[in-house]
Amino acid sequence: MLDPSILDKLRSIVGQHNIVTEETDLDIFSSDALSPNRALYLQNELATLPSAVLFPASSQQISDIIKLANIHLIPVTPLGAGTGVMGGIAPSKNALMISLKNMNNLITFDLTSKSVTVEAGMILGELNYILNTKNHVLGHDPYSLSIASVGGAISTNGVGYTASKYGTMGEQVIGLEAVLPTGEILPISQIPSHSVGPDISNFFIGTEGTLGVITKASLKIYPQPKATRFMSIGFPDFKSGYQFLLNIYNANLQPSLLELSQSADQVIMHLVLDGEADIIAASIKWIINKMDNQHQFQIDSDTTASYWSKRHNSAELYSKTALNKTRKYKWKRNQDHIFEYIHLSLPPSKILEYKQHSERIIQKHNLHVTEYAIWGRPDFFSMMIIPKDPCSESVRQQLYEASESLLQLSCDMDGSIEYCHGIGIKLKHLAVKELGPSYELIKRVKSTLDPNYIMNPNKYI
Ligand SMILES: Cc1cc2nc3c(=O)[nH]c(=O)nc-3n(C[C@H](O)[C@H](O)[C@H](O)COP(=O)(O)OP(=O)(O)OC[C@H]3O[C@@H](n4cnc5c(N)ncnc54)[C@H](O)[C@@H]3O)c2cc1C
Repeated sequence: MLDPSILDKLRSIVGQHNIVTEETDLDIFSSDALSPNRALYLQNELATLPSAVLFPASSQQISDIIKLANIHLIPVTPLGAGTGVMGGIAPSKNALMISLKNMNNLITFDLTSKSVTVEAGMILGELNYILNTKNHVLGHDPYSLSIASVGGAISTNGVGYTASKYGTMGEQVIGLEAVLPTGEILPISQIPSHSVGPDISNFFIGTEGTLGVITKASLKIYPQPKATRFMSIGFPDFKSGYQFLLNIYNANLQPSLLELSQSADQVIMHLVLDGEADIIAASIKWIINKMDNQHQFQIDSDTTASYWSKRHNSAELYSKTALNKTRKYKWKRNQDHIFEYIHLSLPPSKILEYKQHSERIIQKHNLHVTEYAIWGRPDFFSMMIIPKDPCSESVRQQLYEASESLLQLSCDMDGSIEYCHGIGIKLKHLAVKELGPSYELIKRVKSTLDPNYIMNPNKYI
């Protein structure tokens, strides 16, 4: 419960109607897409409610909230669109959540510099729609395009379908404005390339709201492709598919989509090539020339065209069935469908070896992998894991133990524990394993910037 005098001060900062304290509202705004199903041992953290959710309209209002929070030592959690899958927005008890929902304006569009500046609460899909009307596109195209915010995608350094061509969300960032944990506003810089480092904007990428609230972002934009071609290639096994993927990646052909997927019945590569028609034609010719028809064979390209056209369906379903709903509804959706997905980055030279080792862990825990995939870059490896037996406590435990072993194995092989969703509360215990000696340095940065430890506490730092 918030002290009434603090509540009054917060109301005077954001306005009477831009703060909610009712339990149902707190429940709706303070949970993301991580359910207890995928978060064994985290039920309490997942169930915690904040004391208020605030909807400021400016960086100055955010600064005033944070200054007040420092005086009273109240934790603060930045909230984008709440579509994270790792519990990054899970608030501490009595926290204030700062939603960026009302900060969703386009600030500038610079056609010559190929950049756009927006407030961080803008939904990616809305921004992309505006860009499309100006014959441009955003470089980040996740499944969750229509539901996730710019600030959330930067804070988790998200990865989308077009990462092979344009890079991760963090790689789209030219400059950021942020409100620091002390309430100071760090203004946006749009310098395309700095003379000295570190680049302070980069500093906030992937930090999951622990070092400040991102309020504005300048992002790269790209001309809308003039032509698009799809290609589907089959392989007898994952290894030959991976080697072919390395060939394509290293030839710098820059397909928009470069994905290799192994499921029960096939190993398939999806390729989307877009841009100038003659460059696409040359790339396709190059790829066909490299195929030997024993280790690679062309499949009807409609397979990839259809896959591409459905890429945002899961987010649309999520939007209808879970977004803006209370935990009770969100968590009921998949309660008997237990699964785990692993998304790690490993040096490409170790991917095949990792896959082999991982198969032993999967067998030991009586699990089954429904899909192995490489998404966008040769170091981005993922697995979708389900149990062989029906859902029970011991099956949940097996799944949990297998995931822990798989993530530890990745760290032991110079890999990461996640390549796109951040780690939130779900994987925070493994951050030190991945980051090694740099973890202490990151903690020192945190304690300097956030001396009262109020900014999204109880996360990885
Ligand atoms: C159906 C579905 C599909 C998905 N597909 C993808 C995908 O293809 N690729 C992918 O990368 N992710 C995907 N996700 C996960 C999710 O959409 C991304 O992690 C997204 O980038 C989170 O954005 P958000 O605005 O919802 O952030 P939130 O969930 O609100 O927040 C995520 C984290 O960022 C912090 N944060 C948010 N905004 C700010 C800010 N302005 N300043 C500082 N910190 C902030 C929060 O505190 C939290 O730690 C998917 C999720 C769903 C439900």
